[in-house]
Amino acid sequence: MMEGNERTALSVGKMKLIIAETIKETRAQVKEWHRQGLTVGLVPTMGALHEGHASLVDAAAKGCDRVVASIFVNPTQFAANEDLDKYPRDFERDCRILEEHGCHMVFHPEVTEMYPDGFCAAVDIESEMTKQLCGRSRATHFKGVCTVVSKLFNITGADKAYFGEKDAQQLAVIKTMVRDLDMDIEIVGCPTVREEDGLAKSSRNTYLSADERKAAGVLYKAIVAAKDKIARMPQGGIAASESILEVMRDVINAEPLAKIEYIEAVDGMTLLPADEIKRGVLIAMAVHIGNTRLIDNFTV
Ligand code: AMP
Repeated sequence: MMEGNERTALSVGKMKLIIAETIKETRAQVKEWHRQGLTVGLVPTMGALHEGHASLVDAAAKGCDRVVASIFVNPTQFAANEDLDKYPRDFERDCRILEEHGCHMVFHPEVTEMYPDGFCAAVDIESEMTKQLCGRSRATHFKGVCTVVSKLFNITGADKAYFGEKDAQQLAVIKTMVRDLDMDIEIVGCPTVREEDGLAKSSRNTYLSADERKAAGVLYKAIVAAKDKIARMPQGGIAASESILEVMRDVINAEPLAKIEYIEAVDGMTLLPADEIKRGVLIAMAVHIGNTRLIDNFTV
């Protein structure tokens, strides 16, 4: 098995990164690491890597002896009208980034490896949690996410898995899935990595034209305005969430290229609506800049 991996690795220059395309070789390699007493961290991604993804790999390399990243543009989490076909892909560049950040193996399966003929299982969270926020416009998204992430947990048998707080709803949903299905894996949330103007790094930022890219800074401006208003609240004072959301809406509505899909305040664990601003409340938004849908959030 190691010979096969080494051969694949050599095909992308002089990399040490093991490139695994099959479930069998991925599972065997992790088992071998576990046999050696090493801990394994998993970083699931859809590729088109940026510093946000790299920060998860850094965290995994710090927290575990071996790091496995997955690169798989998962069709089951995209609806028919979404960007599955045009989603950016650059596997060689991704491999270089992974190796630079200390990743040991990348799992890069074909769609048929993950979803062979006859595939019919699914994992879902049956609560309001997946119906709020992004769930309102992306009804089947979290079912696709839970299904693929369960498969990745089962394939790798990793000890820890690293997810970005940028996708706060996804992180909360996965924590719930792991808790309710007794999955033997620790979920680690990592802070959002941002561009200089505060825009959260995202593979989808590449869709933005120069004007749209400038306009996209408005999401972070809204976060700063909200945080500022919260900071100026009298000690021990209680603010209605609506008063904070209004500030954010005003900032975003002042940008002609931006169209709000939602800005909401929810409990950070259950994702149920929160009427009052207090510690642990998640303020999350989805905003369309032209044809590109961007999300961002912060926790009070
Ligand atoms: P994706 O490739 O978009 O599915 O993202 C893979 C992982 O990277 C998810 O856990 C995301 O939350 C995380 N991620 C994406 N963007 C960022 C960012 N700007 N900062 C931190 N983590 C991120």
